[in-house]
Amino acid sequence: MARFMDAVTAHEPSETSVDDGLDAARGRLRELFGFADFRGRQAAVVARVLNGASTLAVMPTGAGKSLTYQLPAAMMEGTCIVISPLIALMHDQLRSARANGIRAATLTSADSDWRATMDAYRNGELDLLYVAPERASQTSFCDLLTASPISLFAIDEAHCVSEWGHDFRPDYRQLRPLMDRFDDVPRLALTATADEHTRADILNQLGIPEGGLIVAGFDRPNIRYNVRHRDNPVRQLTQLMADTPGPGIIYAPTRKKVEDIADKLAAATGRDVLPYHAGLEPHIRAEHQARFVASEDMVMVATIAFGMGIDKPDVRFVAHAGVPKSIEAYYQETGRAGRDGDPAQAVMLWGAADFATARQRLGELPEDRREGDRKRLDALAMLVETPECRRSLLLKHFGEDPPRTCGNCDNCLDSPDVIDATELSRKLLSAAYRTGQSFGFGHLQKVLTGSSDARIEQRGHDRLSVFGIVSGEDAALLRPVSQALQARGALIATEHGGLALGGEAPAILKGEKPVAIVRPPKRSASRRGSGRGDSTPNPVGDPLFDALRELRRELALEGQVPPYVIFHDAVLRAMASLRPRSLDELANLNGVGAKKLEAYGARFLDCIRRH
Ligand code: ADP
Ligand code: ZN
Repeated sequence: MARFMDAVTAHEPSETSVDDGLDAARGRLRELFGFADFRGRQAAVVARVLNGASTLAVMPTGAGKSLTYQLPAAMMEGTCIVISPLIALMHDQLRSARANGIRAATLTSADSDWRATMDAYRNGELDLLYVAPERASQTSFCDLLTASPISLFAIDEAHCVSEWGHDFRPDYRQLRPLMDRFDDVPRLALTATADEHTRADILNQLGIPEGGLIVAGFDRPNIRYNVRHRDNPVRQLTQLMADTPGPGIIYAPTRKKVEDIADKLAAATGRDVLPYHAGLEPHIRAEHQARFVASEDMVMVATIAFGMGIDKPDVRFVAHAGVPKSIEAYYQETGRAGRDGDPAQAVMLWGAADFATARQRLGELPEDRREGDRKRLDALAMLVETPECRRSLLLKHFGEDPPRTCGNCDNCLDSPDVIDATELSRKLLSAAYRTGQSFGFGHLQKVLTGSSDARIEQRGHDRLSVFGIVSGEDAALLRPVSQALQARGALIATEHGGLALGGEAPAILKGEKPVAIVRPPKRSASRRGSGRGDSTPNPVGDPLFDALRELRRELALEGQVPPYVIFHDAVLRAMASLRPRSLDELANLNGVGAKKLEAYGARFLDCIRRH
């Protein structure tokens, strides 16, 4: 990481050239998007692009990557060719660009206006042309490109070009030969997920100089991380939905669980809750997805088949009903919350069984993959068990050096009680060992607390030295200790439901390895880390705000676009509190550009006047 950071600073344009180049860009930024200024590393990327320098921008979801090519595209001579892997993603971008008055078109198998698009391109009437990577290798496409000047090649989801990335797409390899034919056109590669290895590979594959790398921090400060033990998922998720109005995604591990949770939550909350998984008919899946994108309060319960290519900015929570596959997957999935910058929640409900299943699966993997997957599981176990800042742990995982606390995760907001559970762990492990490593938690608990039954007597377990050695408050801690030991692999669930020793168990038994656990919160304290009102800054019950939302819904219906394409919640909030009285005053609000002012300004002013 350090090497790359150095490269970034070393090659950043000097202060003066940033100012020179970007004055005009800031003007256009205000005019087109209505934004007061660039955010984070956007300025650095836009400055390079406008200077004609090829660039790889690694920026987290929600950082505003699309603006870094849309704005230069509207300013530079010629058309910007955008390569994007998914049609849904392209159409989403198209709507947003057009809503801001940028001349954009897509050339995909789902479009019928090919001829018109090609003509528009030839006539130099497009700022942006979106295409899929497959098209890049077609001679006819290359011929088309020679017909009119190109301003920039923008390659979205650029990690797809690398075999090291998690989503290799061979078609991305065809981009280099195409771009090499237009050698003087700058390239801008964009991705949210690329480790060091992948970054170097993207630079190499796309012919971008090493100094062209710009990396933004991974932090998503508006997302609040919450990791809780799963005791009653439907109750816990119902509570989350009550605390967090607005759209949400709940990830569940299997199709059956998806259906089950969706049914129960719909019944319990009366809200629009729909399932999404690969077992549903494609047209049903598409319909559920479209409804979700357009909705202001729907909850989608889904397998991980859902999410890629969904740019919905107003997702207020992402919950995991079981542990995700890895920290990388967790970060990508939770990253879908709060792209608009408003507060959002990431809630993970974990159970020891999730780790047990995952560790069992390790055994079925080919030898060479086991070690890597074991490390991924250990990292996840650390995340769920840590009494320290979750965000800090996540960012360290991605090679950053974050502050020790963030103030916006469950552990920072309500620092948990950490207890030394070394002795209790030794007792539990030794009970498992002495009973032959074939009994489940319930049996071990009875043995340790000295509650005899027929099965215990029959096996002679009441005569073991561990019988009845745990009492009082410790007895209540046995279950969390067992869960913690299972999460870190010191206790492993066997196929027949027993618990066997594994991993660090011998070291713990010998007293060489201490075990600390977080004292589980009392049941009534389910508010931990998520309080009502925390997750929405929207003024609940404000008649003007409600009326503005209603108007936004009407306009969205008329224009056949999702409401967020009209204005984000933050813009409506500003309208409700500042009550602009003229188009000029309205234009001053962050997020109101010239095109939207013209299209919707009068109607919003009218609505404000009437309330
Ligand atoms: P990414 O592609 O990096 O995930 P997007 O391009 O979808 O992010 O942008 C995320 C959100 O941030 C969008 O809703 C966009 O309108 C908003 N945004 C982008 N740049 C700015 C800015 N400079 N000021 C305010 N909002 C911005
Ligand atoms: Zn924190």
